[in-house]
Order: sequence, then C-alpha cells, then structure tokens
Amino acid sequence: MNPGAPGVGVGAGGGPFRRHHPDVAHRRAVFLDRDGVLVADVHHLRRADQLRLLPGVPEALARLRAAGWALVVATNQSVVARGWISEGELRDIHRMLAAMLLDRGVALDAIYYCPHHPEGKVSEYRLVCPCRKPNPGMLLRGAAELGLDLSESVMVGDALSDIEAGRRAGCRTVLMCGGVVEAEPQAVAASDYVAADIEAAAAWILALPPRQG
Ligand SMILES: [Mg+2]
Ligand SMILES: [Zn+2]
Repeated sequence: MNPGAPGVGVGAGGGPFRRHHPDVAHRRAVFLDRDGVLVADVHHLRRADQLRLLPGVPEALARLRAAGWALVVATNQSVVARGWISEGELRDIHRMLAAMLLDRGVALDAIYYCPHHPEGKVSEYRLVCPCRKPNPGMLLRGAAELGLDLSESVMVGDALSDIEAGRRAGCRTVLMCGGVVEAEPQAVAASDYVAADIEAAAAWILALPPRQG
C-alpha cells in the first residue's frame, strides 16, 4: 500500500464496530457500496443528517448476516480530497450509519473508505490511490484484516467502478439498478447479476453455492 494510507473507516482501525473473527479464517463477505446501495445517493453527501437508509436495507443485511456473511462497506469518498468535509467528519458520518443499522439490528464488520482523488484540492489527499474503486484495495485490505475469502465473496454496487473493483479482487459482483440513476450498460455486462433492489441482491447471494468444495 502507498504511504498515503488508504482510508480506513469506522472500526478498521480498531474502533468500536470492528468484529474480529480469528477463528473463522475464510469467511464469506458481502462488500457493499455506500451511496445508492445502503443509503440514498444525494451526490456528495456531507452530513450525517443526509443519511437515508434505502428501503429494505436493514432486513436484507440482517438476512445475510444471519447466514454467516460478513458485511463490509467499501466507499469512495473524494469529498475529503475535494475539501468539502474533513476525514473526521466522514468518520462521524460513518459512525452514524453504523449506529442507524445497529438500531435496526444489523452490525457491520467494517467500513472502508478512500478519501483520495488524483485531482483533489487538499494536497495530502491528492493521489492515485490503490483503494479508489475501480481499484480493489479496500476489498484486499478487508480480506487481510478480517480473514475473508475473496473468491467466495460478493461486491454489491450501483456503478461500473464497483463492479470492476469486485472483479479485480476476484469476487462475484451484483449490480444494483433500482436507483434513480440508470445502470451503465458496461456495468450490466460486467456484473454476475443485476438486482432491482437490495432484497433481490440478498436473495441471489443467499442462493449462491460455494465455488469450491
Ligand atoms: Mg454508489
Ligand atoms: Zn485512497
């Protein structure tokens, strides 16, 4: 990883939401994009009071978790590099998101974010980062830190960059296309499954046979 230290979200630095499973070395994970998958995409969300869980999200995540899937958020947040919010404010937003889900009975395993952008205004965040999707850095880091089996894991996102990141990490991919933004044709073609909503995504994931054995 580069010296710019890919952004690690709530929990991944040892915070209160981290669940470490040293006894389960090869858990399957669902990697989740944040905006347009978990919460309404308000385009560069800057405050916790803008967080709106999308319909069915707590229920779908609860089903996945009950079936043993780890739940890991992986989100590009160039709002930090753009100078619109601080990294501390972003972490506060993510603490709120984790709390909102916990309130609905769902614990996240970790939230990873990339605060960087190659053309960011804030110099310390202006870099080409291996974690910024479509690069797979956040997924690789999650796998290393949480003991996840990437080949048995799934990336769920609503953009081509999500699908690409999942593919580069060796995961299966689900494109969510029920939002306000029309699905990119390339993303449809590259994904393993296209889901109208999180409920359909979860149903597909829950029916997946293991790849090996
Ligand atoms: Mg998105
Ligand atoms: Zn980054």
